[in-house]
Amino acid sequence: MTATTREQCLSLDRQDPLRPLRDAFALPDGVIYLDGNSLGARPRAAAARAAQVVEQEWGEGLIRSWNTAGWFELPQRLGNLLAPLVGAGEDEVVVTDTTSVNLFKVLAAALRVQGLRSPARRVIVSERSNFPTDLYIAQGLADLLQQGYSLRLVDSPDEIDAAVRDDTAVLMLTHVNYKTGEMLDMAALTELAHARGALTVWDLAHSAGAVPVALRESGADYAVGCTYKYLNGGPGSPAFLWVAPALRDAFWQPLSGWWGHAAPFAMEPDYRPRSGVSRFLCGTQPMTSLAMVECGLEIFGRTDMQALRAKSLQLTDLFIALVEARCGHHPLTLVTPREHARRGSQVSFAHPQGYAVMQALIERGVIGDYREPRIIRFGFTPLYTGFADVWDAVEVLRDVLDSGAYEAARFQTRTAVT
Ligand SMILES: *Cc1c(COP(=O)(O)O)cnc(C)c1O
Repeated sequence: MTATTREQCLSLDRQDPLRPLRDAFALPDGVIYLDGNSLGARPRAAAARAAQVVEQEWGEGLIRSWNTAGWFELPQRLGNLLAPLVGAGEDEVVVTDTTSVNLFKVLAAALRVQGLRSPARRVIVSERSNFPTDLYIAQGLADLLQQGYSLRLVDSPDEIDAAVRDDTAVLMLTHVNYKTGEMLDMAALTELAHARGALTVWDLAHSAGAVPVALRESGADYAVGCTYKYLNGGPGSPAFLWVAPALRDAFWQPLSGWWGHAAPFAMEPDYRPRSGVSRFLCGTQPMTSLAMVECGLEIFGRTDMQALRAKSLQLTDLFIALVEARCGHHPLTLVTPREHARRGSQVSFAHPQGYAVMQALIERGVIGDYREPRIIRFGFTPLYTGFADVWDAVEVLRDVLDSGAYEAARFQTRTAVT
């Protein structure tokens, strides 16, 4: 049953077993933060960790810290902390580079594996509504490879079945759509792809730390994802990458830098890949930023994805119900699926003045974001979002809409980042 009064929301907060984890985050007063799907909130521990990296490990340890502070193995160590959140095993994940760059590496590896197995397969299937960088990276790779590689984009998940054919090398999908919050069935789509001879690449940018993911169990082949969204790693913190153990050593990825070399400090003139997922590293990693990732992952270590998922669905159910009950007379259209199995941890509504509505909300401390066309997006992060937050956010939305406050001129001009 969803709450229908603020008092009931407060009571849900009091009973919430995850409530104490909110104290692990430094959230500014007067803000209801519903944009953790874009940039996660700051773990309190991050400030001290940053100071430690800068003052001690860098300042005092200097070059010695590559060995003495565990810098060199940090991509692998963080990968092992992250692995349980996405259903991966020990030594199967590395935290490195950006999601875009990691996608380039795994997609290239997947095409190379297919090129050896069945060279006639030259098509990458994806969704037109996929996050643009995923499509751009695939387009750039196809352009680089020449040889007839191309993209086939579908307009709805229902069309994937017909689009994956005997010419398809890779089915490249984002598990939870960034705009609509729709979640795809990873196991079923992986099975479909494999039955047709295609490999799968999954982008978990809006899944890792948001919904339970079972990479190994679903038989997936490659995955990438962000750490600065639901995993709270900090702005631009390095991304992650996973490769199914059976495929890991099949080919070396094309960004064959020295960090992926079997013996980086042997300084050999010829590339020899390391075995295992570490061959997917490229060059020297940004240690200050990488170190912050641990502060976010450490908080996940105090709970599990099942508990987080249960609360996430309660939060999104409550938000949808309250918006429909209290703002239903305004032209808001729910874009996110109601069905739990198809919903990530965000709720999107379309509104004709979506951009201005979101700017007005932000001015009043309710921070979500806006995505073209017309979509206002609210991310729900069970680690630090409470039920009364949802109630209060909907009250601000109702007031912004009822009063027409969003029509003010200052809310109409676009900033660079929406
Ligand atoms: C956020 C996001 C990205 C971001 O990629 P970067 O390389 O970190 O900029 C990529 N893919 C998806 C699906 C995303 O949601």
